Amino acid sequence: MSRTSPPRGAEGGRRPRPCIVPPYMVEAMARCDDRAIRDGAIAALGHCAAGRAFGSDLPALLATPSPAERRHRLVYDACGKDRLPGTLVRTEGEPEVADTAVDEAYEHAGDTCDFFHAVCGRNSLNDRGMALISSVHVGEPAGRDRFQPMSNAFWNGSQMADGEGDGTLFRSFTRALDVAAHELTHGVQAFTSNLVSLRQSEAIHEHFADVFGVLVRQWRRRETAVEASWLVGADVLVSAETRQVIRDLEHPGTASADHPLLGSEPQPGHMKRLCEGPAGAGGVHLNSGIPNRAFVIAAR
Ligand SMILES: [Zn+2]
Repeated sequence: MSRTSPPRGAEGGRRPRPCIVPPYMVEAMARCDDRAIRDGAIAALGHCAAGRAFGSDLPALLATPSPAERRHRLVYDACGKDRLPGTLVRTEGEPEVADTAVDEAYEHAGDTCDFFHAVCGRNSLNDRGMALISSVHVGEPAGRDRFQPMSNAFWNGSQMADGEGDGTLFRSFTRALDVAAHELTHGVQAFTSNLVSLRQSEAIHEHFADVFGVLVRQWRRRETAVEASWLVGADVLVSAETRQVIRDLEHPGTASADHPLLGSEPQPGHMKRLCEGPAGAGGVHLNSGIPNRAFVIAAR
């Protein structure tokens, strides 16, 4: 965990965008009966299919160490558009602002940084105190000069980005500490393992992000592995149904079971069901369920 060379894809575009809501869920949304959700998902899929890279003006900030080798958070407001990072609205040490999403992003980035420092002895994502950059209220194109609230969160190689959600299915992605920690762990991996974005290697990449995302939340709440929840994304779904989440690390393939809009989550939990076909580009967003379950069994 000591290599600190710049991550591949830090300029954006070359590496697939690691999103918290996987493609199979967006595809299910694109087939659902709710017109607003369907149209939004179709626009999101078209946006991804076009391979449009999110703009980023951050290469200089990547190497910016914190002033005193402590956490150094920068939160930006993308104002509903896709140009990142947006307008700087809160920096390290500044008080809360009148925007819940900004303050949630700030707090969750701090919790994640504290976890990696306290548990792993790591100084920020690159172990050299780099700034933690978050953009909130991120939108995505929905037609000519039109944008829609993004129903997702991602790490683009330089920073994390959170959408507000559609308000029907998803709420603001800043709400969930496990989502923020998941995306920022992609940043840690970019400076350490930097696994190849292909098949089982990419599935392991997603697995590490899922596991550390949940571990940060458990650490923050002082929960043991036995008593803790292993669900991902419970705080960002509008539904109050406890089983309607993005992923279940303990029981892959059971999250969002028979959800009328998301469909049933199809992750395998055993190598006997390893996905190797073209769907999900060799199962990169599916096969992470296998090591996820293995980790929970070992942890308990
Ligand atoms: Zn991810």
